[in-house]
Amino acid sequence: MHYQSTRGAAPVLDFRGVTLTGLASDGGLYLPRKWPRLSAGNIADMRGLSYVETAERVIAPFVGDCLSADELRGLLRVAYGGFGHAAVTPLVQLDHRQWLLELFHGPTLAFKDVALQLLGGLFERFLAGTTQHLTIVGATSGDTGSAAIQAVAGRAGMDIFMLHPKGRVSEVQRRQMTTIQAANVHNIAVEGDFDDCQRHVKAMFNDAAFNGRFTLSAVNSINWARLLAQIVYYFHAAVRLGAPDVRVNFAVPTGNFGDVFAGYAAAKMGLPLGRLVVATNVNDILARALASGDYSSGRLVPTATPSMDIQVSSNFERLLFDLHGQDGAALAAAMAGFEATRRLTLSAEQQAVAAVHFTPFRADADAMTAAMQWAAQEVGQVIDPHTAVGLAAARTLPLDGPVVTLATAHPAKFPDAVERATGHRPGLPARCAGLFDRVERYETVANDQAALQAFIAARAVAA
Ligand SMILES: *Cc1c(COP(=O)(O)O)cnc(C)c1O
Repeated sequence: MHYQSTRGAAPVLDFRGVTLTGLASDGGLYLPRKWPRLSAGNIADMRGLSYVETAERVIAPFVGDCLSADELRGLLRVAYGGFGHAAVTPLVQLDHRQWLLELFHGPTLAFKDVALQLLGGLFERFLAGTTQHLTIVGATSGDTGSAAIQAVAGRAGMDIFMLHPKGRVSEVQRRQMTTIQAANVHNIAVEGDFDDCQRHVKAMFNDAAFNGRFTLSAVNSINWARLLAQIVYYFHAAVRLGAPDVRVNFAVPTGNFGDVFAGYAAAKMGLPLGRLVVATNVNDILARALASGDYSSGRLVPTATPSMDIQVSSNFERLLFDLHGQDGAALAAAMAGFEATRRLTLSAEQQAVAAVHFTPFRADADAMTAAMQWAAQEVGQVIDPHTAVGLAAARTLPLDGPVVTLATAHPAKFPDAVERATGHRPGLPARCAGLFDRVERYETVANDQAALQAFIAARAVAA
């Protein structure tokens, strides 16, 4: 299996290469050169399989000869064996056609664990027996950082440096990062905001002298292996609801377009789907792009769904690649235009191609609150605000057939917003007990590029 960059000018890599690389050297994102296809018979054969068995069948064609079947199975068993539900991603029925797919049974209570628990194992496997040492650097507003730290804590061959804005992540999110005692975990509280953290990380990757001293690596959702892991639950859920004979719709709370792109990837592999609903909050660049062709970043509005508060949606480039006829040079030119003007316009023809799969939806604060209240009062389900954005779409849009809303976080991760909407303060699941008693470990560093690089350089392992 070979992977190519969306911008057409980076080396073609195998699965090991794309897993360790992240962003392509031409600034693009990696995608398979040819999509593996599963027939209706292959999909029907997934009936009754466990999550791990389904994952083996979906992921194996993307791995090529970088892992044996036994190695892949072993990594999947370890990644999902630690989830708090034996079904890994259970489906919960809300009414005669609405379902929730609970993706939050991993260690940090958000769907990012589904991908990152596997990615940690893949990193370790691909580094074993080499002299390479990864220095993973990231910035987080909460969910990504905790999931990434949990995924790599204590693993050989890598260190992780995670920057968070001091005093601006929730206590649950901070403790999920800072109570991990592994020696390869370095939490940095930056005296600035999330945008400052992100800017510093970007600058480190772009600083050739610094980057050259270490093997810097990223774990954000541009990493292909993360998306690959997410394709699995679309197959697993759809098959349980009758695929390939039934077309299931998915309502996906979206920020960086990673999760919903995984659904599109499932469709490209042959899974018959209904609509893929791209549900955004009022930071609606994606909904606007799909509804009217206007992909332009505006001013960020902080909401009760911080993990979807984005201005630029990094994985949208993967869809744009298809909308530009898979012409890397044409897309590179379009992205250069976007980077200069912060806007890109989709032609009527490109919008029509996207509309084959995607339905946009924008939920404001009232719609989100109403969805949380409906779930709590009518169905007895307490849901998190991100999930509520998806459910608002699922209940509002005219969709044929079953609708699965991806439940991307456990409500206890956002207790204040849940309590405001429903009057009920959700408690942490039993497996997270003790989070508030454990010792925290982090260092505060000034909001200063040189100070941050010096901090990392003093602790990282040279390339
Ligand atoms: C990251 C995140 C999202 C957005 O996912 P994308 O893949 O970036 O679209 C939605 N909900 C929660 C809880 C998240 O942590």
